[in-house]
Amino acid sequence: MSNIKHTFCRICESLCGLEVHVEGNQVVDIKPDTRHVATNGFACPKGLKQHHLFNSPDRLRYPMKRVGDKWERVSWEQALTEIGEKVKSITGRFSADSVAMYVGTAAGFGVLHPAFAQGFMQGIGSKSMYASATQDCSNKFAVAEHLYGFPFTQPFPDLFHTNCLIVVGANPMVSKWSFLQVPNPSLHLKELERRGGKIFFVDPRKTESAKVAGEHVFIRPGTDVFFYLSF
Ligand code: SF4
Repeated sequence: MSNIKHTFCRICESLCGLEVHVEGNQVVDIKPDTRHVATNGFACPKGLKQHHLFNSPDRLRYPMKRVGDKWERVSWEQALTEIGEKVKSITGRFSADSVAMYVGTAAGFGVLHPAFAQGFMQGIGSKSMYASATQDCSNKFAVAEHLYGFPFTQPFPDLFHTNCLIVVGANPMVSKWSFLQVPNPSLHLKELERRGGKIFFVDPRKTESAKVAGEHVFIRPGTDVFFYLSF
């Protein structure tokens, strides 16, 4: 008999409500929480399969060192000493910025990870901090800084009252519209259309989202800026 714990997925900003089925100290299943007030029973495979990731034999549980073409388990003390010496030697020969760190979305949602990751980089004096956000949405932060004076002031479309939605170069069915914190994009796109709203997907490719609702408008790659200028 499993015990059900209610929680939410920390992999992206949709923060889907989850029911985690636990037996003893083992997670045996994860289901979408149908009674969750915001996500109403929606969750994607990434959130629903997290226990397989947790129990995977490939999960890194202790420091491993590459020796030749093999990996060997080493102690924490050896790992920290050797990494510390290497970081010191690199920053001594080049500059602190020559040591870079990349933080993925799920790590960014951890409680301790961001504080320690940023702390490490500040400690060695490196500005080379990268994340999934610096890859796919640094333009949004830069524009917000120029327009509003603060990078995290982000205007979100009011999907529930929008009459015409133009989506340029985005594919919410796959991204789960995580930046806008809209779980279940298929439901919301169809709902917008059902109440008479118009949707246009402007994209060089007929995306998964364009197949769900609205109208697809092809655009030549690299010409988005001229499309925007026409407004
Ligand atoms: S959309 Fe998927 S990855 Fe994102 S919070 Fe929901 S279950 Fe997690």
